[in-house]
Amino acid sequence: MANYYTEHTLIYLNGAFVKASEAKMDFYSQSFHYGYSVFEGIRSYKTIEDETKIFKAVEHFERLKISALSLNMPYSWQTEELISATYEVLKKNKLQDAYIRPVVYAPANMSFNLNTESFIVIEAWEMAPFLGDKLLRVMTSTFQRPNPKGFKIHAKAAGHYVNSIMASHEAKAHGYDEALLLDMHDQVAEAPGANVFFEKDGKLFTPALGNILPGITRATVLELCSELNIPVEEKRFNKEEMYGADAAFFCGTAAEVIGLQSLDDKPFTQPWENTVSKLIQDSYKNLVVENKQELVNEISGIE
Ligand code: PMP
Repeated sequence: MANYYTEHTLIYLNGAFVKASEAKMDFYSQSFHYGYSVFEGIRSYKTIEDETKIFKAVEHFERLKISALSLNMPYSWQTEELISATYEVLKKNKLQDAYIRPVVYAPANMSFNLNTESFIVIEAWEMAPFLGDKLLRVMTSTFQRPNPKGFKIHAKAAGHYVNSIMASHEAKAHGYDEALLLDMHDQVAEAPGANVFFEKDGKLFTPALGNILPGITRATVLELCSELNIPVEEKRFNKEEMYGADAAFFCGTAAEVIGLQSLDDKPFTQPWENTVSKLIQDSYKNLVVENKQELVNEISGIE
């Protein structure tokens, strides 16, 4: 298991900075028992000018709020306040290239009743930008994504991730790098922790919103497509439509943009280097280390 913290690591816990090794949470929390919490996965990068930048900070904390509210969790924080606390966590732990994990969780409550308050923790640990170019071998999971009629699927709720863990275990047990999950109509949805795109004749396709987590990297890829004049379409499609396409990739905050080698042993046919997918990968890599980002200088406090 990775070492996420040492005895010196500080986390932000309900307004205070406390040692990760000494922080306490209530074992009677509704979150712990029922998976009823919401979280974010965010990255910070050391920019080309050696500043520390939280990539898409506003978007992530706004999604955290949307996730909490859609699960009826009280939410009292301002995005600016949480971004500022996150920069403080980075600074106190001397982190630049980091993964940041805020979690909003419930108080002690063994019933299914509403709570009158929520709590928040912000943890961060070092994570180098993804540099590898190894393409992933992917299998279609036998697990479907949670049905949007049973879950608020656009929310990043902890409980949804039991599904992700099962799908990932299954893929790895079968010798694949990762899973691709379909929705309840057998249409392609997403990876356990990333969105998916495929490429045909210079055009990109990605599942439409509705049965997937609306990824911030996915939205960034759509923006990059528009800047680079790469045609892109959001639509519903099945796995057969993806088989033998020119290229495909997963995208997410942690995964960044990572190419696929094959889906269910059917290879993507163009050399990765020749695809617009690769162009998106390179553009994303450049974008995350650019300095121009909202709120960096105003609130970072990072020298
Ligand atoms: N889908 C799922 C199920 C995820 O867990 C993630 C990671 N948060 C994504 C997609 C990609 O989202 P983002 O680009 O916002 O990290």
